[in-house]
Amino acid sequence: SLSIGIVGLPNVGKSTLFNALTKNDVLAANYPFATIEPNVGVVGLPDERLDKLAEIFESQKIIPAPVSFVDIAGLVRGASKGQGRGNAFLANIRDASAICQVVRAFSDPNVVHVDGKVSPKDDIETINTELILADLQTLEKAIPRLDKEAKLKKDRAAVAAAAKAAAELLDGGTTLYAGAAKAGIEIELLHELHLLTSKPFLYVFNVDEEELANAEFLASLRDLVAPAEAVFMDAKIESELIDLPEDEARELLESIGQTEPGLNQLIRVGFRTLGLQTYLTAGPKEARAWTVPIGATAPEAAGVIHSDFQRGFIKAEIVGFGDLTTAGSMSAAKSAGKVRMEGKEYIMQDGDVVEFRFNV
Ligand code: GDP
Repeated sequence: SLSIGIVGLPNVGKSTLFNALTKNDVLAANYPFATIEPNVGVVGLPDERLDKLAEIFESQKIIPAPVSFVDIAGLVRGASKGQGRGNAFLANIRDASAICQVVRAFSDPNVVHVDGKVSPKDDIETINTELILADLQTLEKAIPRLDKEAKLKKDRAAVAAAAKAAAELLDGGTTLYAGAAKAGIEIELLHELHLLTSKPFLYVFNVDEEELANAEFLASLRDLVAPAEAVFMDAKIESELIDLPEDEARELLESIGQTEPGLNQLIRVGFRTLGLQTYLTAGPKEARAWTVPIGATAPEAAGVIHSDFQRGFIKAEIVGFGDLTTAGSMSAAKSAGKVRMEGKEYIMQDGDVVEFRFNV
């Protein structure tokens, strides 16, 4: 399954964040792979639509879409040269589908900063530099081989050219995710090289609670990473929120000017960064969100539930979540003409409430 790798310099709050993320995990029973590795956490995608569906269908259970986070420890300055856990770290990060960098923006003088001062900009650069150096090593090894292949096979010439263009971009200090499109590099051609900086990035800024309401400060951090997405939270507060009863947690959030935990935002933004969306199913047993890539067809979506559903796909009975809740029930939505029959070509939309018809 697709996972988001959490990276960052030591002492920025990665463990605090990861522990808070996984502590409120109600998914372990539904997703047994969650417990395979200690550094993997599977958390539910917060989705209020499921509560609403469970109400309408009187479902006994709610099953949110799973999102996997992997705590990738060991990124330090010099990792690309084998410092710290060097290679073990690089192997772990290669498996992640997106990279979430935790950046320290909190000022607590009791927590030592590895480089002696709190500077989000410098930290982001340090991490980017390590990832860029790792990619440059990969490319330097690959380019002579690609050049040879290009002489023998025409279609390999484009790959070799893309590899060289990528190396040039990285040499200038830009990650592939940030700069490949603008530089006209077809990143898909380089897929086989598993380049780290071609993965989608998102950023978590771990800020002091007083700063969470400081729009100007947050904007200055956002500017450091745009167009990548940024999430702001106080990891320490998040880890306290997890242990509180719901009403007290809400009070604490309100006291720092927040409407929901930063973790919820992180899970949602992470999910989106992976290029995923959900469709919904509901009945008396469960209200459930299913994950599909953006652009998936109806049969592909059916296949997420069971391969038989995809093989025997006939059609999908679909109502948009908004139309369903406006009507108040499935039968009311049908009477209002809001329930559609969609065929094999239909492209799934986020929030489609679906029932599949299939041959067995
Ligand atoms: P990691 O090395 O990146 O995994 O960092 P940790 O999560 O272990 O955090 C390092 C230290 O910073 C710990 O003592 C945490 O309690 C502290 N810490 C983490 N997040 C925050 C925060 O948001 N505010 C403050 N003041 N301290 C934090």
